Amino acid sequence: MEQTPSLSGKLWLVGAGPGDPDLLTLRAARLLASADLIVHDGLVGDGVLALIPPHIERISVAKQRSRHTMKQELINELLVRETLAGRQVVRLKGGDPFIFGRGGEEIDAARQAGVPCEVVPGITAAMGCAAQAGLPLTHREDASAVSFVAGQCKDLSDQDWSGLAGHGRTLVIYMGIATATAIADKLIADGVSPDLPVAVIERGTTADARVLRTLLTDLGDLVVREKVASPALIIVGKVAARADALDCLGAPGVAEKLGNFA
Ligand code: SAH
Repeated sequence: MEQTPSLSGKLWLVGAGPGDPDLLTLRAARLLASADLIVHDGLVGDGVLALIPPHIERISVAKQRSRHTMKQELINELLVRETLAGRQVVRLKGGDPFIFGRGGEEIDAARQAGVPCEVVPGITAAMGCAAQAGLPLTHREDASAVSFVAGQCKDLSDQDWSGLAGHGRTLVIYMGIATATAIADKLIADGVSPDLPVAVIERGTTADARVLRTLLTDLGDLVVREKVASPALIIVGKVAARADALDCLGAPGVAEKLGNFA
């Protein structure tokens, strides 16, 4: 049932950037200091959360002890209810709210309830992590197109990834660590060269970031060998060889081939 919106309440969908608090926008930083309530997920870095003044109420909808995230409908209800009560509500999300962040669903719920809502963009992981690793997602010699893809689906066989990676292209895969082997197999089966450079960026832009480089054919082994954990990005394409990285020499000839690209 649609409620009468309060005159003063407003919902802000705010991007927190990829981790480093210095990568917040000025608008996001101002809102963190002035909100009545901040609802954040688990991807928001500790450094960003530390900027929230102690008197501001904060609710985490990250994984709880039951290991389940709060259901999206419950989050939507919470945001709408608190905003209609007249509060300035900040929904703080890792990266950009509209890149694999379910921000689109939250803004739909706000619109349906007649709640005033504004979106504050954030630096998405692909851009922040690649830039800080010295990896240009586009390059006049190597790539004139970039794709962002979610890799968390168990069954990749029904998806068409042809044309996303390969000559002149950069493919950035979010949420792809658990399925890295299947992703590499799928790309190779779709005709992508097994020798294409790959960079894996774990906890990018934070103090304990790791940047690993290998070739597509070795991606699955690398993730297991190096115990790569989420959050991490997989970047596939010639530009990956340009990252300031720790090279992983697991597969035969990896170092020589990466050397050829660099
Ligand atoms: N809205 C977010 C993405 C949410 S999906 C954004 O715009 O960045 C979550 C995925 O983002 C993670 O599984 C991981 O693939 C990626 N990610 C987020 N932060 C990251 C970081 N600091 N380093 C590497 N990958 C990150």
